[in-house]
Amino acid sequence: MDESKDHLQRRCPRLGGPVTFSYCRNNSVDLQPCWKALDCWWELFDVTEYFLAYLTEAEFGVIFRRRPKPKITSILELIQQAKQRTE
Ligand code: SF4
Repeated sequence: MDESKDHLQRRCPRLGGPVTFSYCRNNSVDLQPCWKALDCWWELFDVTEYFLAYLTEAEFGVIFRRRPKPKITSILELIQQAKQRTE
């Protein structure tokens, strides 16, 4: 996996603070990219090409065409992720 973009940073619209691309590409508990990554990073580099380089078309479709989770589910996942990062 190409880690050359991992250091790039932007403000996350979901968290309200800065995040690095490394966070966005391993955002979920299952270590999949965040479903909003294409929207969030397209201005900084060709993020579609980046993910197509290592995801199959099916994986790409599942990840980036899925519907957003209910807000409460996202909040619970973020809490879980924060707990895991501090352990
Ligand atoms: S891709 Fe997801 S985690 Fe990353 S900045 Fe966008 S909304 Fe936040």
